[in-house]
Amino acid sequence: MNLENIDKNYVLQTYARNYVNFKKGDNATLFDDTNKEYIDFTSGIGVVSVGHGNKKVANAIYEQISNITHISNLFMIEPQALLAQKINSLSGYDVGVFFANSGAEANEGAIKMARKYGRTKGEHKRYKIITLEHSFHGRTISTVKATGQTKFHSDFFAPYPDGFSFVANLEAIYQEIDNETVAVMLELIQGEGGVSPFDKYEIQKLSAYLKTKDILLIVDEVQTGVFRSGEFLTSKLYEIEPDIVTLAKGLGGGVPIGAILTKHKELLSAGDHGSTFGGNYLVTSASLSVLEILEGLKSSHQLDETINYFDIKLTSLLNKYPTTMEYSTGIGLMRGIKIKDDETLGKIVQEAFKAGVLVLKSGRSTLRFLPPLTITKDEIDKGFKRLEDAIQTI
Ligand SMILES: *Cc1c(COP(=O)(O)O)cnc(C)c1O
Repeated sequence: MNLENIDKNYVLQTYARNYVNFKKGDNATLFDDTNKEYIDFTSGIGVVSVGHGNKKVANAIYEQISNITHISNLFMIEPQALLAQKINSLSGYDVGVFFANSGAEANEGAIKMARKYGRTKGEHKRYKIITLEHSFHGRTISTVKATGQTKFHSDFFAPYPDGFSFVANLEAIYQEIDNETVAVMLELIQGEGGVSPFDKYEIQKLSAYLKTKDILLIVDEVQTGVFRSGEFLTSKLYEIEPDIVTLAKGLGGGVPIGAILTKHKELLSAGDHGSTFGGNYLVTSASLSVLEILEGLKSSHQLDETINYFDIKLTSLLNKYPTTMEYSTGIGLMRGIKIKDDETLGKIVQEAFKAGVLVLKSGRSTLRFLPPLTITKDEIDKGFKRLEDAIQTI
């Protein structure tokens, strides 16, 4: 049996998979088993923030797991404590951190926090959480219900937990709030929903209003966090300090890690929440190394230069194909180009793959770019050249 058939026989077929076998990775460059080269503008959907085959992270992981990989959260874990301290200092406001293993799990924990807040603060119980259309918050039974896209709310998996509703836009949140509302959960730039940033002023206004009502603001930074937008938190770019922020994707450079950050440090107590793997030696030492690299990129201004350079290339591509491409969107290295229709978008992604550049689809016919934050100018040049070759064949 060849590898494709082994996959098809033994792995549950929940993904519409592309049958390429990558054998070697070097920063934003990948090679398959025929030695064909690809430029990776996806970083494994925003995960491989410091590139493929990063030797510094590999060494940090190797050193850690040659010694201790896992102990359990019944004991103090040195790299976990140091990572929480680092996240606190990078966030720019005083947050405590809980470690989970994925984005959905971080959001689950955030939902539990909000519900406890709604149960213990105020005179009557509040439990409702408002989210937004086109959002994405995960695949567990409650985060999928929090996701504001009915295509995810299949009847196969019903009944879903109560207490979630989604509205069309920020303005509609104000009407949706009632005396049982405890939180609003949103992404500042909707990742799966078309790489669409919300207006900074509208977000600040909402954040201030929620404070007056004692309603929590949960910002899902699973995709926008960890320097993706140019700042450690996109919340900082928006100049807000949410009650709860969730992180995952780019935080571990490829190891599975999620985090819940909250300024309500006393809200959860022993026994309220937990995770077997969460924040173990392996993932937290990897993440410490990732953050050290990214902090260096930021403070040397290299990250800002990469963002500018990527923007120049993206804009010049957009200007060349005004009939296929409508406008660009996104912030930092989380970017998109609105394509005229879904069919053309599908063709572009397919032809780009053939031409040796990996790009992603997002909602609302958006071509999505999430390159490693360490991508070089040379890799950016190559990637856009190949993308243009691909578009010319359509
Ligand atoms: C990817 C994503 C999630 C889900 O993360 P998983 O690690 O796949 O569970 C949640 N929210 C946002 C905004 C995401 O982009």
